[in-house]
Amino acid sequence: MATATATTTQKRMYIDGQWVVAEDGRTIGVINPATENIVAEMAFGSRADTKRALAAAAKAMPGWMKQTPNDRGKILKKTADLMRDRADAIARTLTMEQGKPLAEAKAEILHSADTFEWFAEEGKRAYGQVIPNSQPGKKHVTIKHPVGVVGAISPWNFPITLQSRKIAPALAAGCTIVCKPASQTPLSLVQVFECMIEAGLPAGVANLVMGPAQDIADEFLENPVCRKISFTGSTEVGKQLMRGAADGLKRLSLELGGHAPFIVFPDADPEVGAKIAVMGKFRNNGQVCIAPSRFYVHKDVQKKFTEATVDFARALKLGNGLDAGIEIGPMFEKKAMENTLGLVSDAKQRGASILTGGKRSDRFNKGYFFEPTVLTNISGEMKLMTEEPFAPVMPILDFSKLDDVIAAANNTRYGLAAYVFTNDLTVAWKMADGIEAGIIGINDPVPATPQCPFGGMKESGLGRELGHEGLEAYLETKYVSIKLREG
Ligand code: NAP
Repeated sequence: MATATATTTQKRMYIDGQWVVAEDGRTIGVINPATENIVAEMAFGSRADTKRALAAAAKAMPGWMKQTPNDRGKILKKTADLMRDRADAIARTLTMEQGKPLAEAKAEILHSADTFEWFAEEGKRAYGQVIPNSQPGKKHVTIKHPVGVVGAISPWNFPITLQSRKIAPALAAGCTIVCKPASQTPLSLVQVFECMIEAGLPAGVANLVMGPAQDIADEFLENPVCRKISFTGSTEVGKQLMRGAADGLKRLSLELGGHAPFIVFPDADPEVGAKIAVMGKFRNNGQVCIAPSRFYVHKDVQKKFTEATVDFARALKLGNGLDAGIEIGPMFEKKAMENTLGLVSDAKQRGASILTGGKRSDRFNKGYFFEPTVLTNISGEMKLMTEEPFAPVMPILDFSKLDDVIAAANNTRYGLAAYVFTNDLTVAWKMADGIEAGIIGINDPVPATPQCPFGGMKESGLGRELGHEGLEAYLETKYVSIKLREG
C-alpha cells in the first residue's frame, strides 16, 4: 500500500498558459516503484479539463502557425538547452516515478533534448515542390500546412522520450498540442513543460492534461477541434483508437507493441554478442517496445553464447535506481512484476529451464525487483513467445539455416524492431531485406536516434516518428494549381 508523507508535493496540469488543479480537485498519487511510497500528488482531471485544453490549443493555433519555422525553432532549441541544464534534476524525478537507473534516466532526458533540437532545425525544411506542367500556362506547386490541434497519448516506460517525439515535431510543423502522459509517470513531463514555458512557449500552444485515459481519449476522438491523435502504447488500445477515429476521420500515428528477435550468426564472437544482447534486453528491465525478446542463436555458438549471457545477467547490479552503480531498477508497478512471474511459470510448465533468475528478488523488503532471467528449452506456444513480454526475461532458442530463422523471426503479429549479430555483410543484407520490422539493428542494440525514422510494420503501428517522416506526420500537403493569364 503506497503512503503519502507530510512533504508530498502537489503538481498541476498546464492548460492555456496556466498551472491548474483538476476542476473537481481530484489528484492521483505517483508511486516510487523502488520504495512503494508516494513521490508526489498530481492533479487528475476529467473530460471537461481536456475540452478546455483543446479549446486553448485551437485558440493558439492561428498565431502559432503564422510564426516562422525559425521563430518556432528558437523556442524548441531553447527548450533543449534548458532540458540539458536540468538533466540531473529531471532524471531524478524520472527515476523516482518510473524506476529506471539514474544513468538511463539522464540518457533519456539528453536524447529527448536532442529530439527537440533536431526538430527545431527540421521544421525549417518543410518543403513543398514545384511540379512541371503538362498544359501550357499552368503552374503547379505543393505547400505544407500543419495538420491542426494534436492529442498526444504516451505510456510510462519512456515518459519524456515518447512525449518529445510528439511535442517537438508537432510544434515545429505549426500544430498545437494537448499531451496526456501515463497516469503513473507525469512528474518528469511537468519539468519538461517548465523548460518549454521558460523558453517562451505562448499560452495554449502545448497543454498537459491528466485524468481517466478513456475519457481523455473520447474527448480527443469526439471533439472536432482535435484533428490528429498521436498514440504510443499497447496494440490493443491502438486498435481501439483506430476504430474510434473513423467517424471524425482523425489523422492517426500509432507506435505500438513489439516482440523483437535477436539473431546471432556463427561468424561473430558469441561472447561479444552475449554482452550486447544482455545490454539490449535488460535496459529498463525489458520494458522497452524495441527490446529484444526472442534470442535465436546459431547452434554452433549457442553453448558459448548462453554461458556468457548467464554470467553477464548474474553480474547485473539490481537496486534502487537512485543508488550509485545500479544497472537495473525495479519493474515499474506490481502488476508488471506479477505478469513476469506468470510468463516464467507458464514457460516452466511447458518445459523451459531457468538458467538464472525467474523470481522476485528476495534482497528487498519493498519495491518491485525482479531478477534478470535467462531461459532455454523454449517452444513456440509459450506465452513469452506469443505475447509481448515487456519483462526482464530472455528466452534463448537455436537455429541452423538463415531462411528458417527469417521465417521464425517473422512468425509474429508484431514488426517493430529486430537485431542481427554478424560480421558477414551478405548475411546482414539478407536479414535486413527479409525481416518484417520497421527498425533493424545490425550489431546495434540501441538504434533510435532523432534523425532516423522510428516505427513499426504489421500490428506494431502506423506511421513513423523521428526523422523527416516524423515532421511529415504533422503536415498536410496542399496542392495549388495556377492558370496564368494569356498574353
Ligand atoms: P497502454 O495501456 O496502451 O497505455 C499507454 C497510454 O495509453 C497511457 O497513457 C494510458 O493511460 C493510455 N490509455 C490506456 N487506456 C486507454 C484507452 N482506452 N484509450 C486511450 N488511451 C488509453 O500501454 P502500456 O501497457 O501502459 O504501455 C506499454 C505498451 O506501449 C507496450 O505495448 C509497448 O510496446 C508500447 N510502446 C510502444 C512504443 C513504440 O514507439 N512503438 C514505445 C513505448 C511503448 P493510463 O496510464 O492513464 O492508463
